[in-house]
Amino acid sequence: MSIYWNRRVVALSPYIPGEQPLDKTLIKLNTNENPYPPSPRVIEAIHRAAGDELRRYPDPACTEVRMAVAERYGVTPEQVFVGNGSDEVLAFAFAACFESSCHQARPILFPDITYSFYPVYAQFWDIPFTPVPVVEDFSITIEDYKQPSGGVVIPNPNAPTGRALSRTALASLVRYYEQTQEGRVVLVDEAYAAFGRDLEMASLTREHPNLLTVHTLSKAASLAGLRVGFAIGNPGLIQGLCRVRDSFNSYPVDRLAQAGAAAALKDAAYYEAVNQKVVATRSRVAQALQDRGYEVLPSQANFLMIRSPSQGGLEFFTYLRDRGILVRHFKGPRITDFLRVSIGTDAEMTRFLTHLPPPTDTCRGGEFPDGP
Ligand SMILES: *Cc1c(COP(=O)(O)O)cnc(C)c1O
Repeated sequence: MSIYWNRRVVALSPYIPGEQPLDKTLIKLNTNENPYPPSPRVIEAIHRAAGDELRRYPDPACTEVRMAVAERYGVTPEQVFVGNGSDEVLAFAFAACFESSCHQARPILFPDITYSFYPVYAQFWDIPFTPVPVVEDFSITIEDYKQPSGGVVIPNPNAPTGRALSRTALASLVRYYEQTQEGRVVLVDEAYAAFGRDLEMASLTREHPNLLTVHTLSKAASLAGLRVGFAIGNPGLIQGLCRVRDSFNSYPVDRLAQAGAAAALKDAAYYEAVNQKVVATRSRVAQALQDRGYEVLPSQANFLMIRSPSQGGLEFFTYLRDRGILVRHFKGPRITDFLRVSIGTDAEMTRFLTHLPPPTDTCRGGEFPDGP
């Protein structure tokens, strides 16, 4: 707190990012980074870009990246906005699409258990919001969002649960808004969609001008350190995002990031192989945990939300941390007993499994498998 802060800053409650420890010996399973390196072509492209040209400003329109996104998702470059990480793209999308409370806006809707940056952005831009409770099993009921509102934000798969909605369910929501909620946007955050089955919705933006999909290279493309994200939508919506960007900083994506991002988008084959490995490891670890009595939410992302049969969330977190394994614990009423575990390499996940506490010998559920 400082007397030099204005009232706006005093009122903020900023997002708290996952820890980035300096201790490199920790097994880091806390921020959903990809455990595999980026494509070698990305590194080559960044090396090529790291020369004399750095004295020049980067292309403000990110033309090469937008063309690569258009090619990869079957849209046109006019439908693509590129930003400095999808967090920035989301911040601009909230500013461009949702009405603030001074205009008596209806609240926007997002799940009560979701990416905790959404309420932060809503508060920053003074956008009213109503969290919509997820069901007891942490799934989302799409019908709950079919009501008059200021717009919808849904991550698919959801974070931190990993649960996904079908593309059909989300498409029905997009149609509902198109038909009944004029001017209101459905924003689908696809940060983890590449780890799921048939979830990507970007091609629907050609038919539905109210749909905005948001993407990141941080998770599926192993480039969290490069900070590139993008949005796909109808050209009018995209121009709205450009207006917001150009009211802050016309050059948010630097030359190295643009070069690396374009190379990553063009190397789909490399990333398909990498992410298939992540998905296979996810299945193996989920099964191993269930066999030991852990509750594991069904995940289509590169992480698992798990509950220990014997330890509370914070206790389990500390137990793992003491053994050099860093995972994520959230303090929320319904998720405080869970931990979110990012999927690491096979070797890391094997170590994670061997470090789990031994099964307790207290007899649960009245079962005495080997006699009393
Ligand atoms: C990681 C994440 C992002 C942010 O990604 P960056 O591109 O690294 O800013 C956005 N949305 C969700 C749901 C995420 O988990």
